[in-house]
Amino acid sequence: SKSSSRVEWGRMNVFVRGRPLSTSELQANAFDCLEIADQHTTFLHEFCASDDYLRMKRLKTRQYQFDHVFNVLDTQRCVYEATAAPLVESVLSGQNASCFCYGATGTGKTHTMLGTVDDPGIMVLAFKNLFEAIDDDLDTDVTLTYVEIYNEALRDLLNPKGPSLELRELPGKGVTMSGVREVKTSSAEEVVRLLHQGNKHRRTESTRCNRTSSRSHALLQIRVARRDGGKTTTGKLSLVDLAGSERTIANEKKSSSRSVEGANINKSLLSLSSCIRALVEGKKHIPFRNSKLTQMLKDSLGGQCQTAMIATVTPSSLSLGETANTLHWAERAKQI
Ligand code: ADP
Ligand code: MG
Repeated sequence: SKSSSRVEWGRMNVFVRGRPLSTSELQANAFDCLEIADQHTTFLHEFCASDDYLRMKRLKTRQYQFDHVFNVLDTQRCVYEATAAPLVESVLSGQNASCFCYGATGTGKTHTMLGTVDDPGIMVLAFKNLFEAIDDDLDTDVTLTYVEIYNEALRDLLNPKGPSLELRELPGKGVTMSGVREVKTSSAEEVVRLLHQGNKHRRTESTRCNRTSSRSHALLQIRVARRDGGKTTTGKLSLVDLAGSERTIANEKKSSSRSVEGANINKSLLSLSSCIRALVEGKKHIPFRNSKLTQMLKDSLGGQCQTAMIATVTPSSLSLGETANTLHWAERAKQI
């Protein structure tokens, strides 16, 4: 009702956000291959290689369907309203929900999730929305944790010098992190500061392709606890800025530690992918235990939980294969 781009909610809603061509892509003579046909449909065009733009012919066009495809110029607010705003509502009513960005490095995952101080993304807008909804209600507590999964090790981004965190499964409480810094807050300004500071501590490393590749997953969990008489209801929102989905190992010469790292990144992403496949197929057993990421999302993915997945892509002709991979994977996840 709030926004015309609101979609009917299934268990998993899949969105696509393309960004504009970047300066460096334009300098490399990239052109735009992504056509947004309507709110649900996008085409990926493959042209034959030619230096002459006007004489290029389309070789192949792939078509993909989603719950919603954003326009390149859609604002952060617009993306938030369609993807995470409905999740905030369900968390306020005591349910768990999750939202994650999936895509290659440089496609806009961090921009969409965190954004900048001047143009905040989903993580920050979700807090603003929550605080407005709670409106100084003293019986409601909002706490957050912000951690990184890197090489299957958990690090507290709000306490980066602290020891690495261990996961524990407690009866009735689900999966918890021992020793994590859990911050209680009711100030959007404080949240902005904490998240940007935390994000600086994420591990990034340049690869042989000579670009900065984020190999870490950042996971923000927001817990909303409401006391009503003697009863407390708790809802949890998990917002994930996933590691780059590009197949780094296949594209580089193997070097020892880098390969281990790549394999571990793949472990969390692959594991997420197998959980999603198992959910798609309606399996009874979902292999959540196979990685840190999926262990932590266990109570927020599947079941009755609402999930939003935002596939981020570049329209660049130079990244066509990667974009096709992302869109293909995302389209499959929509069947949940
Ligand atoms: P990722 O986290 O996927 O590696 P980033 O979020 O860091 O990618 O985005 C890469 C670059 O593209 C950044 O400079 C960012 O500001 C820009 N960018 C990403 N998405 C958009 C968008 N929707 N509109 C404009 N610029 C964008
Ligand atoms: Mg990033």
